[in-house]
Amino acid sequence: MNSELLQKYKKQLSNSTIRSRAKYISLNNVNNSNYSYTFVYKGSQSRPYLIEIKQHNKKINSNCTCPYDYGGLCKHEVAGIDFILNKEEKNSKLNKDLFGNTVVEKIETGIILVNHFLTKEIISLLGNIVRKEYYNQYTFKTQLLEKNKITTSSSYNYYYSENQIFIYNSENNILDANCSCRDKKKYCEHIIAALSYIL
Ligand SMILES: [Zn+2]
Ligand SMILES: [Zn+2]
Repeated sequence: MNSELLQKYKKQLSNSTIRSRAKYISLNNVNNSNYSYTFVYKGSQSRPYLIEIKQHNKKINSNCTCPYDYGGLCKHEVAGIDFILNKEEKNSKLNKDLFGNTVVEKIETGIILVNHFLTKEIISLLGNIVRKEYYNQYTFKTQLLEKNKITTSSSYNYYYSENQIFIYNSENNILDANCSCRDKKKYCEHIIAALSYIL
């Protein structure tokens, strides 16, 4: 579920009193998928309350079966939203490497090689892997192989060729990649294909 949408939804439809009361509510999460969460909570009534929070397209929807009827969200719905936000935050931490850097974010400045290894997974993060038949039309050559630096050249159907330079900084694990082509994307298809070739 989208955390930003959930935050906005909570802010718009609840006041600070409800939000602080929600902190003392511990819901039982009985069912969830990517876009729908169901909770139960044993309140003062004999029947437990059922709380549902859903995202459909870009809209959040929620409801609770408790008797609260003063407009806006009840504390159970807010507690449910907080539960999901917490979970989403934990999930996003999974995208971090061993050094706590967000893998996807760091890609703007360079490619992080966890434990100094280049892997297929890292290459696939840079962009869609070039279609196989397309990649096969590139011919790669290693032009220069130095400590922490590799220069490759690619030619396409034996026509024009581009050069790629890869420089690895083993102190911060960042692999910097550059290509001589005019593609404005940081990681052009030559870089992605050349990394596959190096690997
Ligand atoms: Zn409620
Ligand atoms: Zn290129």
